[in-house]
Amino acid sequence: MTSERVDLLAIAAHRDDVELTCGGTLAKAVKAGYRVGIIDLTQGETGTRGDAATRAAEAERAARVLGIHARLNAGLPDAHLHNDEPSRAKLVELIRATRPRVVILPFAVGRHPDHRIASELGRDACYLAGLVKYAAAGEPHRPFKLLYALAYREDPVKPTFVVDISDTFEIKMQAIRCYASQFDGATTAGEIFPTGQGLYELIRSQSAHYGSLIRTPYGEPFFCPETLEVQDVLQLGVQSM
Ligand SMILES: [Zn+2]
Repeated sequence: MTSERVDLLAIAAHRDDVELTCGGTLAKAVKAGYRVGIIDLTQGETGTRGDAATRAAEAERAARVLGIHARLNAGLPDAHLHNDEPSRAKLVELIRATRPRVVILPFAVGRHPDHRIASELGRDACYLAGLVKYAAAGEPHRPFKLLYALAYREDPVKPTFVVDISDTFEIKMQAIRCYASQFDGATTAGEIFPTGQGLYELIRSQSAHYGSLIRTPYGEPFFCPETLEVQDVLQLGVQSM
């Protein structure tokens, strides 16, 4: 297991989940000089298309495209994810090894059960990782901030904020295209409902919609339950009228 530390860590159920929901944000953080990591909880062995080995190679390529410093896999059972003690202990180990300040998790609502479980499992593991007496490898570490990726969800809440990914949108698309075994010719993926468009076109129009919420070409939406702090109201963006 690598002990590489990162500033920003994205945790999700399946390889390709983070590219779809927050790939532009991860690439943007890399460009800003931060160290960025990904933890895929499963190996995608029950996916309809492609096998685990193909998806591993694709995930490796996508990580290189995004500029990711550490991509780890928890090896938990795909389509049978559980928020149980062995799964939490495994994830605590990986969080302690990477020691992120900020963690991006899936939103707690979703049609794939793995996505919902990953949200809760990720949150619990982030808390437990900070307990001095929690028995798992590594030094205790609790991330400072948890963010929930809201892309493709319309049922729950308005985004708390949208990250402007206009400068890294093409990198996001290039990373998504690394998953050719999953996506070439596809019209749907993960939480994305089909619209009759090809998947790549669909992601472009969804990202343009989120961007329009903050008056930029492309964006990725996030939810966080805490109230956000503002020091200078004159620096606030997004025109009101
Ligand atoms: Zn998924």
